[in-house]
Amino acid sequence: MNKQFEFIVVGAGGFGSSCLYHLACRGVRVLGLDRFGAGHDRGSSHGDTRIIRQAYFEHPDYVPLLRRAYELWRELESASGRELMKICGLFLAGPPNGEAVSGTRLAAQLHGLPLDDVSLTDFSNGSDAGFSGFRVPNGFDALFEPSGGYLHVEDCVKTHLQLACELGAEHRTGEAIISWDSDGQTVRVRTESEEYQASALILTPGAWASHLLGNVPGMPELRVLRKTLHWHRVRSNVYDVNRGGQGFFFEMPYGVFYGFPSLDGQTLKLAEHSGGEVVNDPLEIDRSLRDSDTQPISRFIQEVMSDVDPVADRHSVCMYTVTPDSHFVVDRHPEHRNVFFGAGFSGHGFKFTSVIGEALADLAINGKTDLSIDFLSLARFQS
Ligand SMILES: Cc1cc2nc3c(=O)[nH]c(=O)nc-3n(C[C@H](O)[C@H](O)[C@H](O)COP(=O)(O)OP(=O)(O)OC[C@H]3O[C@@H](n4cnc5c(N)ncnc54)[C@H](O)[C@@H]3O)c2cc1C
Repeated sequence: MNKQFEFIVVGAGGFGSSCLYHLACRGVRVLGLDRFGAGHDRGSSHGDTRIIRQAYFEHPDYVPLLRRAYELWRELESASGRELMKICGLFLAGPPNGEAVSGTRLAAQLHGLPLDDVSLTDFSNGSDAGFSGFRVPNGFDALFEPSGGYLHVEDCVKTHLQLACELGAEHRTGEAIISWDSDGQTVRVRTESEEYQASALILTPGAWASHLLGNVPGMPELRVLRKTLHWHRVRSNVYDVNRGGQGFFFEMPYGVFYGFPSLDGQTLKLAEHSGGEVVNDPLEIDRSLRDSDTQPISRFIQEVMSDVDPVADRHSVCMYTVTPDSHFVVDRHPEHRNVFFGAGFSGHGFKFTSVIGEALADLAINGKTDLSIDFLSLARFQS
């Protein structure tokens, strides 16, 4: 078995699979290692769908990256012949001065992105399938972002991995990485049974970042949060993606909730973005459904969604890995010039996996990237 590579990517989930693909596209000899198989449900990249949008309320600096992310998702669709990204629009509502509404307006204005105000008459108009399924609280603003939509999350990961392998990358699963080190020229990666060597290492370990990146000087605390995804039965076809149903995002006084149109005509998926219990060991996370998970979701459904059963049909448990400012950390290791990492994607990273994978491949091969990732550097935590 070959143990010598030019590049090794540790963690072949959302970001690692994309990095592996972009490295393989450039013809280098690359190995991707993971404890679990392609598109598994033990980390942060599972549960059918992820929202993608451009008018980014979290920070307008993400918008150039998002433009490139959209291009790369379409390129991956062309290369694979699969539908990975569906643009169905995103309906967003909250207090006018709240983070979601004001941040979305700001990002759209600064970057000239299409964004529509939704008026109350749009709700009473029964022909408008998407909006008629929602009751917007008094005093809220409602916006519609036509370029919003969703990604088929497991298919995105599997497609990156499959195409990477077709281009010559190696992807090994069932390999738990115990440790790594670098002497500046060579990196050594030790798993339970093997030791691999390469000229450069890219670490994308998701919820396990503290284990593999904990000793990086200046790395902030990365909090892992337990999150639940809920599938509920729909009682009418107003949420159906084939009848104008769209993604949604609501900043409520008691939490932030988001969801997807119904893909199968039977159920739709929704979740709470706010909150979440700290997870000490991601391998031991509680995957049962608790009353404290369902109560806020049921309340949101009863107040906002007229035609959805408030009792969950099924659920899944996932993890956010959150930095102190909720922005990502994508950088070179300050002590090892041939080690790079992407971490702390803070519960909003998946839509960026295509572009951050490209940026990490740029960094690993060229030591720099033209993509605008400076605002995601480690240095910001030192100021
Ligand atoms: C419930 C939920 C909803 C979300 N919704 C959205 C959304 O709508 N839109 C959006 O953009 N983002 C969303 N996100 C965030 C997004 O999904 C994550 O930011 C992204 O998936 C993280 O990818 P990752 O590559 O960092 O982690 P993962 O995909 O979990 O990959 C990390 C990989 O590293 C491997 N690994 C780690 N350590 C080791 C080791 N020692 N040995 C071997 N393998 C190792 C793991 O097995 C895993 O495969 C959501 C997240 C959750 C949990």
